[in-house]
Amino acid sequence: MKLTKAANIAARSLTPNKPHHAQWLITRKCNYRCRGCNVWTEQDKNELSTEEIKCGLDILREMGLVEIVFSGGNPLLREDAAEIIEYASRYFVTTVYDNGSMAAKKIDALRTVDFAAISFDSLDPKKMDYIKGVKGSFEKATQSVETLHKEGINVAVTPTISQLNLNEILDLTTHFTEMGVPVWYCLYSYDLTAAENQLFRIGKAQDEFVITDKQAMVNLCDSLLEMKKKNKRILMTDKLFKAMRSLYAEEKRTWKCKALKDFFIIDHLGRIGGCHGHNFAGSIFDLPEKWESEKFESLRKMYHECEQCTYLCYIFYSLHSGPFGNLALAKEQWKNTKLLL
Ligand code: SF4
Ligand code: SF4
Repeated sequence: MKLTKAANIAARSLTPNKPHHAQWLITRKCNYRCRGCNVWTEQDKNELSTEEIKCGLDILREMGLVEIVFSGGNPLLREDAAEIIEYASRYFVTTVYDNGSMAAKKIDALRTVDFAAISFDSLDPKKMDYIKGVKGSFEKATQSVETLHKEGINVAVTPTISQLNLNEILDLTTHFTEMGVPVWYCLYSYDLTAAENQLFRIGKAQDEFVITDKQAMVNLCDSLLEMKKKNKRILMTDKLFKAMRSLYAEEKRTWKCKALKDFFIIDHLGRIGGCHGHNFAGSIFDLPEKWESEKFESLRKMYHECEQCTYLCYIFYSLHSGPFGNLALAKEQWKNTKLLL
């Protein structure tokens, strides 16, 4: 990362009363058939143009956003992925998600990202194919991770923890971190409601994914906390692991949701919401006017009390919100920050 970008990001991170993170699902197209996901059953070939996305990124830059995460669908299925990623990477800490199928073919598009996150759910090829709903997913994801790593692109592996792979998360973490590849986690969750104007739906209820062995989850959190003391390639904070532990040990939420305050989400048509689980609240193109509005303020209050989901990225942003959250994050992840810079 260039020094001017790093200095700019540090300054923006410490500015209060503005959003820090946005996740932009720039396409609704996907080439996988994951069993716990709705996206592939509700694809949409409509999406914003390259210029519209760049215009949206300019708006986000002026609002002082720090981090952008591109996902989908699969963002790398867009033909203009390289152009969008390069443009975003000039200003934001930029992460791109891939299901493992595209990254090895799109190396040049990924050269400017801060992180390319490859979804990798199991070291067992058959199980991985079962979860992803397509054959060959394990080989493709392996090839993507290895190619990116060899090319010097900051690649990370992101398993979604569920009952299906709970007992192999430690092995998977060891496997990749020993290769020099960092790991962070998602947590299986699904959309409880289908509100009429809900922004979009991602997760669907699948009994076999639901974590029923809560004690195993508590033990996993304890083990990862212990492992993390020596393994700096586990890119999760202690605070997050402790929050997950409380959730499974005591059914206690140690955070309040900061949707539409510290983070928000943008869909492939440019509609925005605090998260994807509620009705959309506006458009990326009128976000600056809406940000301070009474409507947004009352939505923030509602989301603050919401306990509807356990999507780990939302929990992470809620736990590490505002300048103090960013400072704590920088302090705890200092070694990784140095790696990134
Ligand atoms: S989880 Fe991701 S890769 Fe899998 S079907 Fe859904 S959008 Fe596609
Ligand atoms: S807890 Fe927060 S992120 Fe989850 S559905 Fe409610 S408002 Fe959205």
